[in-house]
Amino acid sequence: MFHEECGVFGVSGSRAAARLTYLGLYALQHRGQESAGIVTWDGETAFQHRAMGLVSHVFNEEILDRLPGDIAIGHVRYSTTGQSQLINAQPLIVRFQGGQLAAAHNGNLVDSDSLRSRLEAKGSIFRTTTDTETILHLIARAYAARPTAGPDAIPEILGEALAGVEGAYSILFMLDGKLVAVRDPRGYRPLCFGRLASGGWAVASESCALDIVGAEHERYVEPGEILVLDESGAHSHRLAPAGGPRSFCIFEYIYFSRPDSVLRGASVDGVRRALGRALAREHPADADIVFSVPDSSNAAAMGYAEASGIPLEIGLIRNHYIGRTFIHPKQSIRDLRVRIKYNPVEETIRGQRVVVVDDSIVRGTTSRELMRIIRKAGAKEIHLRVASPPIRFPCFYGIDTPTREELVAASNEIEEIARFIGVDSLGYLSFDGLLSSVPNPRDAYCVACFDGSYPHECAYRENRSKTTGSDTP
Ligand code: SF4
Repeated sequence: MFHEECGVFGVSGSRAAARLTYLGLYALQHRGQESAGIVTWDGETAFQHRAMGLVSHVFNEEILDRLPGDIAIGHVRYSTTGQSQLINAQPLIVRFQGGQLAAAHNGNLVDSDSLRSRLEAKGSIFRTTTDTETILHLIARAYAARPTAGPDAIPEILGEALAGVEGAYSILFMLDGKLVAVRDPRGYRPLCFGRLASGGWAVASESCALDIVGAEHERYVEPGEILVLDESGAHSHRLAPAGGPRSFCIFEYIYFSRPDSVLRGASVDGVRRALGRALAREHPADADIVFSVPDSSNAAAMGYAEASGIPLEIGLIRNHYIGRTFIHPKQSIRDLRVRIKYNPVEETIRGQRVVVVDDSIVRGTTSRELMRIIRKAGAKEIHLRVASPPIRFPCFYGIDTPTREELVAASNEIEEIARFIGVDSLGYLSFDGLLSSVPNPRDAYCVACFDGSYPHECAYRENRSKTTGSDTP
């Protein structure tokens, strides 16, 4: 699979800030499983705890007791820029002229290498290998230019620091005793906020995390908005003028976000069902049963079954307790993990012509292993249906994707992919089918991994060394 990026959660105005943030991170665990961290502020001092591992392993009662204060920001991480090491775990926290500054970042800057080089040339030193640290440096520099700036100057200073920073960032800052949420002008990654029953604020990558703490969903942080959340309210400022071009990551609907989240006013579950219905209309199959590759394809399989009239069954059981397959980078171990992760229900599959619905195909190696397992369980025919178009380009906006060469659809026709994966037929949802299933308009989305139309031209150029494909979109 594509690997998720990160999840952020923050609280302002609650004495239970650390505990609420812990719960919020629990709900966002699907967005990153490598490390987790929380930073709190008690009005005078910042407290932090970060460690490698899942939220449930990183925190316990005793640790949460050591995180006092009524402001907190938290982060779950899957590394996209910077290695998977504790030093890169977030939130990052630094001391500088303006006091203490902490940041939790979801996304990826497309110009982080050149930004870092420019800062290093001016004498900056870095502790981590993350792109987030470059943002901290830019903020510190903006403060240095205004040594007497107080909390009222936060929006202006952030605007100055982030002007010219290209790429995807939904960031929570703890700065000058305030919780501040900022979303890049194109709004690649989601970010929403709501009111806690106690009167404080919660801000989260996805609405499912607001639900878990009982926060009433207020609205989305707008692309290009700086939102300062404090006891006097939610104060909105602009980083960039409203109404500019948007590039919300369409993959949030297809795979990344939890189905119980609401994005841009549409339920993720509802969109996935619509994708499945469109897929059934575009690629019908003469088959006996439909089942999903659980869990991210469940809703699409339901949509396919509904539109095709083919009975929906449970054909694969997923073991939820083994972590994600990407934890081990070596292919041989990944294949083994596929076998550990999914077990076929032989009684359901034996002798049947089956439609298997998956949300996407990246390298094709996981699909091939899965289809082999299903064939071995006695499937008479396998018709694989994919609820998104072929992925032909890597992502530079906070999603860990393989090189272009490794993407099976980058250099193979559909029939070749079907042969490689070992299925009787293969059908991908069309681009139009995808766009007709998400809230409009088309130009609100980033779809670069399907068609190479990167919103930032520099994304492809700057990261070309990461790809081995020769096409220039
Ligand atoms: S390239 Fe694909 S995964 Fe990356 S932001 Fe764009 S739509 Fe999302």
